[in-house]
Amino acid sequence: AAETLQGVSSSFTTKESPFSNAHNVANGTSGAPAATHNQSSHGSSALSYGELLQKYNPVFTSEQVSQFPLRAPVVTVMGHVDHGKTSLLDALRNTNIVSHEAGGITQHIGAFRCSFPDSAGGTKYITFIDTPGHAAFSAMRAKGAQCTDIVILVVAADDGVMPQTVEAISHAKAAKVPIIVAVNKIDKSGAEKNLSRVYQELMEHGLVPEPYGGDTTTVLVSALKRLNLDKLLEAIDFQAEILNLKAPVQGRARGVVLEARLHKSMGPIATVLVRMGTLKVGDVVVAGSAFGKVRAMRDPSASELLVSHAHGAQHQDLAECSPSVPCVISGFKELPNAGDIVMVVESEQEAREIAERSKGAIEQRKQYQFDLSKLSSVADGASESMQKKEIPCIVKADVSGSVEAVVGALAKLNHPEITLKVVHAGVGPVSASDIALSEACMADLPAVVIAFNVRVLARSPGVVVRPYRVIYHLVDDMKQHLADFLDPRT
Ligand code: GDP
Repeated sequence: AAETLQGVSSSFTTKESPFSNAHNVANGTSGAPAATHNQSSHGSSALSYGELLQKYNPVFTSEQVSQFPLRAPVVTVMGHVDHGKTSLLDALRNTNIVSHEAGGITQHIGAFRCSFPDSAGGTKYITFIDTPGHAAFSAMRAKGAQCTDIVILVVAADDGVMPQTVEAISHAKAAKVPIIVAVNKIDKSGAEKNLSRVYQELMEHGLVPEPYGGDTTTVLVSALKRLNLDKLLEAIDFQAEILNLKAPVQGRARGVVLEARLHKSMGPIATVLVRMGTLKVGDVVVAGSAFGKVRAMRDPSASELLVSHAHGAQHQDLAECSPSVPCVISGFKELPNAGDIVMVVESEQEAREIAERSKGAIEQRKQYQFDLSKLSSVADGASESMQKKEIPCIVKADVSGSVEAVVGALAKLNHPEITLKVVHAGVGPVSASDIALSEACMADLPAVVIAFNVRVLARSPGVVVRPYRVIYHLVDDMKQHLADFLDPRT
């Protein structure tokens, strides 16, 4: 059950943090018995922003999760530049029988699916995110929209482990996503001879290949010559079985925007990866500050056909879309952002409310980041290493003098590897919007909210709320809090 929870629950609650919340409100997810929170006495406009977010963020028990059907794994390809990430994605895309558009045109579509027969005569799928690299991966993660289950680390056989390979390993490990190594360019002369060196280098970075007694699966491939792509798919499938990835199919959909752009005749279109529930044409959706009604839905591989009905491509229309299935939707009134969480909500009025308040939260966050950047640059000497871990922190205090005192004291807690980053500071009690903001700021580490001489009116399990009355207690406690998150090996 623990594994199941890690695979599913965490992606619904902690990882999709902008809209994650404490209370168990599985509204509309009829397959998921949960809803204990009675909404019936509220009109929609009576709900606060936090309550609206909670309403659409069901949290499931491990028992419930175990009842959900399996879903396809979602895979991101990472690795050093020129090691063959794009080539591998192209090769996989073109083996992809789901796509009717195969034929070598590389078009960035956000995600695509590969299918292959399973032993029982059915069809299995793997979803690939087609933005390779750890930058995109971590940007999504920083927004709480991580949706990758498995990382394929591409290492060129002739080149071995390079700086960006090491970075990719760190990013995948920080996200606790299992890694499968694809040793690429195996067609090159001399590649085989270099393998033991490649394995040695992988081991130096904590990836012990199976032939060396470790648990890292390595597959020798050639993206160019399309060698062993089936073995790679098998390895992914095997890993997915271990992860036991499950998601509810019933109920309102929730997912992540992978890409969005303005289409000349369709207006804003977005590639969305559904994470739970079923997305349908006609659903009212909200993603960040954008909302609308799903007008058309397509397989991303066929998204270019959205306009060209002349191609007779009506069969590409999807009526609905289930977990781990990417789709391109039209109908947003404005462009959502990559990494926004998409939620299907009850009414256009609620969608508008969520969108407007989300806009407010984003602006508020930008403003405070700007103001506070001056403060922290004085305190910790401008630019620290990018590698430094940051714990997002929100400070609420009784009077403005104490806000300044607390922020000043926190700025002095300087450690080379970890720091508290104050993203918002203000006077007044800890409110639902503070909690929503801290969830939106969460990246690698859980956010912490400091309540100095103020009441705490809202909470969420993903957010640490610490009340204090005495500043030195706060300082000692935060020192310990930072220490708790330091890697014990370093
Ligand atoms: P990326 O930067 O990781 O996306 O790498 P690319 O996919 O752009 O590939 C970089 C170069 O390596 C290109 O010239 C590819 O043609 C070449 N390449 C990629 N895969 C293979 C392979 O399996 N074998 C050989 N010989 N060359 C490859």
